[in-house]
Amino acid sequence: MAKDYGEYFNIAHIEPLSHIYGPGERFVVWFQGCALACEGCWNRDMWSFKSKQLVHRKRLLENILHSPNIKGVTFLGGEPLHQSDNIWWLIRQIRERSHLTIFLFTGYEEYELRQKNHISNIHQLCDIAAIGRYRDDRRNINQQWIGSDNQIIIYPDNSRESIKPQRINQVEIIIDSDESVRILGFPDEALKGKY
Ligand code: SF4
Repeated sequence: MAKDYGEYFNIAHIEPLSHIYGPGERFVVWFQGCALACEGCWNRDMWSFKSKQLVHRKRLLENILHSPNIKGVTFLGGEPLHQSDNIWWLIRQIRERSHLTIFLFTGYEEYELRQKNHISNIHQLCDIAAIGRYRDDRRNINQQWIGSDNQIIIYPDNSRESIKPQRINQVEIIIDSDESVRILGFPDEALKGKY
């Protein structure tokens, strides 16, 4: 399931500087559109394939490359690999033109990634990948970076990253200059629905 936006990405949200989606400070992109429909998904507003923010892939690349003080880039969603032509182009460009590390979240299972021919790109181009559907019955809020125990974190063949996830829960609260507040991460039940 994918929708063709040409050389544009359909993006739900961007955080130019976040601390909780991988090692170090990172530029984080949530893609719009997911057909995987995990029960209990907290990002249901990112399921629709309707255009939300259409951003040309070259513009997103330049924004990432000119972003100060980041160690890497994290892609999640929605499902990033529904926009796979552009995302593999983008990741390849980042890898060729910078030392930024790449962390890819995907809801596909490992066997699906093999069927869809994504696994070799993951091993060539990514530094960390979080793989698998979110399962509400396996929810674990004490495992860094993933939301349920069935999901796996891999360090692909060409990974340049050695920092491993810890058994902690992280939440990030961002207050903008206009005093708007965003809560990111996997908050516990008390905050569920407020991010
Ligand atoms: S893959 Fe992610 S965005 Fe898609 S339904 Fe599952 S948890 Fe939600």
